[in-house]
Amino acid sequence: MPIETKSILSDLKKDADTWFGLRYSMNLYRGCQHGCIYCDSRSACYRMDRLDRIYVKENALEVLERTLASKRVKDTIGFGSMNDPYMPLERQYQMTRRALEIIANYRFPVHIITKSDLVIRDIDLLQRISGVYAAVSVTITTFDDVLCKKLEPFAPVTSKRFEAIRRLSEAGIYCGVTLMPVLPFLNDNEENIVSILEEAAACGAQYVVGYMGMTLREGSREYYYDKLDQLFPGLSDKYRQTFGQKYGINSPDYKHLFTVFYDTCKRLNLQTKMDFYRPKDPSMDYEQLKFDI
Ligand code: SF4
Repeated sequence: MPIETKSILSDLKKDADTWFGLRYSMNLYRGCQHGCIYCDSRSACYRMDRLDRIYVKENALEVLERTLASKRVKDTIGFGSMNDPYMPLERQYQMTRRALEIIANYRFPVHIITKSDLVIRDIDLLQRISGVYAAVSVTITTFDDVLCKKLEPFAPVTSKRFEAIRRLSEAGIYCGVTLMPVLPFLNDNEENIVSILEEAAACGAQYVVGYMGMTLREGSREYYYDKLDQLFPGLSDKYRQTFGQKYGINSPDYKHLFTVFYDTCKRLNLQTKMDFYRPKDPSMDYEQLKFDI
C-alpha cells in the first residue's frame, strides 16, 4: 500500500548508537514481511496496526535526494531499524536499491542490517559506497535452519544468510553478523553460539556483534507468547514465571554465554565491535560547518 512521507532520515543523537555507529536511520517501508515471532516493531509504542501490512513510502526517494543535498555533515545512514530493507517486496519495488544509488551519488556512509540474502543483488552499489564506508550486518540467531523457520518464518533461512556473508566478503564488503536476539530456553546454548561464530568466520565475517538476551514489551510480548504457545507448548508459562513483565530479558545463562562468545571470537579472530565510519579528513566537514553558520 503506498503512503507519503514528509521526512525520511531520523537524526539520532551524536554517538547515541554504540552498536553500529549510526547518525541517521531510514525506513523506506512501514511494516515487515519477515514475521519474526520476537519482533520489537510490534510494540504498542510504535502504533503499527499490523506488522505484516506493508506500506511503501512512495515519495521517499525524492525526499531522500533533497535531504542529502542539504545535509552539512556526512555521517552513517542506517537501514533496517524498524523493518528489513530486503524483505521480499524489495524485489519488486527496489526502494532500497534506488536509495543506495542516491546515497552512492552523494557519498554518504551506510550500514545495513538484514536477514535476507537479497542484499547480494546490490553488491555493485555497496562496492561503490565502500569508497566512503559500507557495512552489512547479517542477523543470525540460530544455526539450525529448522528452528530458524519457526522463529523467523518468512525470512531466508540461516544457511542462505551465511552464503550471503560469503558473497559479500568475497566482493570486499565489510560485513559481519548480528547475533541477537538470544531467546531464553530456545537458542541460548553454547553449541548454537559457537556454531554461528565458527561458520561466520569460515564465511569471511569480520565481526560479530552479540547480545545474550532479548526485549519484550506491551504488544510484542503478547504476540510472542501466543507464538510460543503454538510452537513450543508450555514455554510461555516458563517465561511468565521467570521474567514477569521485564523489558530487558537476559538468558539465565548469559554470563557463561558471554564468556563463550568472547573466548570464541578471540580464537577465531572476529571483532566483537564494529569499526565505525570515520571521515577520512574530519576537517572537511568541520570547515564546511563553520562557513554555513
Ligand atoms: S526482520 Fe526485523 S523488523 Fe522484520 S520481522 Fe524480523 S525482527 Fe521484525
